[in-house]
Amino acid sequence: MKNDRSWTEIDLGNFKSNIKELKKFFHPQAEFMQIVKADAYGHGAYQIAKQAIESGAVSLGVANLQEGLLLRYQGIKIPIVILSPSLENEIEQILENQLIPTISTLDFAEKLNDKGKCEIHINIDTGMGRSGFNYLNALENIDKIRKLDNLEINGIFSHFSSAEEDPEFTKLQSDRFEDILSKLDNLPKFIHISNSSGVLTFPNRYTNLVRLGLLSYGIYSNTEMKNKVNLKPVMTFKTRITQVKSAKKGDSIGYNRTFVAPTDMEYAILPVGYADGYDFLLSNKGKVVINDLVCSIVGKVSMDMIAVDISKLAKPEVGKEVILLGDSNKSISAENLTSLYSGLSYELISQIGRRAKRYYKEDGKIIDSSPLLRRDFVPKDFSDNKLGNIIETAIEQRLQSKEIANLVHEDILKRLFAEKDKDIQYRRNFKHSIKFENSDEFPKYFLTSTNLSFSKKLQNDFFSVACAKTENDLEKYFLRNDVEYRWLLDNSIDLEEMFFNVTSVKVNNIELYNEMKIADGCIEIKCYHPDLKSLVGKEVDFSISTKTYYPKSSHQLSVYIIELTQGVDISFESELKNVEAVPIFSGKSKFPKILKNKNKISILTDKDEWVFPTSGVVFVY
Ligand SMILES: *Cc1c(COP(=O)(O)O)cnc(C)c1O
Repeated sequence: MKNDRSWTEIDLGNFKSNIKELKKFFHPQAEFMQIVKADAYGHGAYQIAKQAIESGAVSLGVANLQEGLLLRYQGIKIPIVILSPSLENEIEQILENQLIPTISTLDFAEKLNDKGKCEIHINIDTGMGRSGFNYLNALENIDKIRKLDNLEINGIFSHFSSAEEDPEFTKLQSDRFEDILSKLDNLPKFIHISNSSGVLTFPNRYTNLVRLGLLSYGIYSNTEMKNKVNLKPVMTFKTRITQVKSAKKGDSIGYNRTFVAPTDMEYAILPVGYADGYDFLLSNKGKVVINDLVCSIVGKVSMDMIAVDISKLAKPEVGKEVILLGDSNKSISAENLTSLYSGLSYELISQIGRRAKRYYKEDGKIIDSSPLLRRDFVPKDFSDNKLGNIIETAIEQRLQSKEIANLVHEDILKRLFAEKDKDIQYRRNFKHSIKFENSDEFPKYFLTSTNLSFSKKLQNDFFSVACAKTENDLEKYFLRNDVEYRWLLDNSIDLEEMFFNVTSVKVNNIELYNEMKIADGCIEIKCYHPDLKSLVGKEVDFSISTKTYYPKSSHQLSVYIIELTQGVDISFESELKNVEAVPIFSGKSKFPKILKNKNKISILTDKDEWVFPTSGVVFVY
């Protein structure tokens, strides 16, 4: 934080406490869905999701497919409901990632049903006038959806339009919803209508799920609620004074001279403007807190700067911390600031700190952070799908800054998964074991057995294993994506079957046939089986075992990872003394674990960790 121009602090302890407070208003059977749309209202969807799950959330609510995909990629496993209507071209990824779409039209339901099995929530418009089936014809639509075999109705919901301020209309919406439900036999598992304001203002016993948004972030949607429940703001937005100046009576400050100093005064320049999410409408209205004193914004908010009157401060100095929003000082809570310009707290918090790093706190301690620019979500027009280019950039960047390297790393994976670039292959559970044994027949060589296993999407009903004596000859096999295994044979060895052969090759435990061809300085082994046809396009388990020879005089053996790989375990077994492993890894971490057993040395990453090509390890003996 010392080095940041502005930053947000997200107090997860306050979030937890807000959930606990709100739970007091749930009726006994009710569960909750945490709403994390718009990056959890600017608080960070991943960290909020994790905390909410710990606090008992049974599901998460996001706005769209992209937000759901990102959480899935980040490893969130619980049900995720997409609250806005989805598009037809998003169906495939919804199914692949087990997201729960909201059904608002019959047409979408039918298209979804055509593509595969899917859990859904049905949205009924009881007066919000936004998405969903109109309550008047909801029943007939529900009936039709029930006939669609692939769709499993996991929930039915509606949404209040003004739970925080209009009890009459809220009751009308609730009655309409309850009436529909009373006419259904077999209710789905989840019935829900309340947003967080509704939880406080309109407990409805016929529902069993509530959707918590704004209030869980510690922002009141109505000042009267303050007497009912004690919420604490989760987000604080801070900056520092970058310049202290004085103005003479009559001097103007900022664009268009909207503020003219009434007397001689001191003011400070803060390095935050509307591009940081500090709303332009706070011009000449906003307040900040410095040294526990409330100071006023003077002049217009610029894109990157604001000026504040610091006449009250005894000792203003450059570098002093300034609170722009949140924290315990109530005068600058999101709801107070937005009331100064009739704005909306929802909007302010989801736009604030766009250029700020986030720090996550618990019990006053920083426990995590997320980098700058994190909310620049993957643009659709990303056309460069050459993994190599991305990685080149990643590596170049990582030399300069760890933070940027992390960012690039996350970005690459986001692009791969959120955008689902179909041309890029990746492997999971990569295990490669190599064993050297003495050979009576060829004493200058080690008899070498290798076993490679991994999971990957099967491209074709065949694939190849290749072996050559020079890198040049082998090179063409690196360009072909039907080759799953390549081996460089020592130059002193003849290119013959007895020196390199596949002892077993399986896909999902189907033992494949193999056919060897020796030509142009290469051994090419085609592996195939008629049963593979039905597995094309599915993720399958490969297992490839070979036997070959390796010169004792070489003193080193390299193993490469040439595809994007998640979870790596490479081991080398021999009777040799003093074997060292030198990993050359790129990815988030350069240093995998190295385990040494009696005869075996292993290089391991976490199961979930992604390793980029070209990584590898050199065993030196
Ligand atoms: C955003 C949203 C919520 C959360 O509303 P809050 O007022 O922030 O509690 C609940 N349900 C749906 C469908 C939403 O879109």
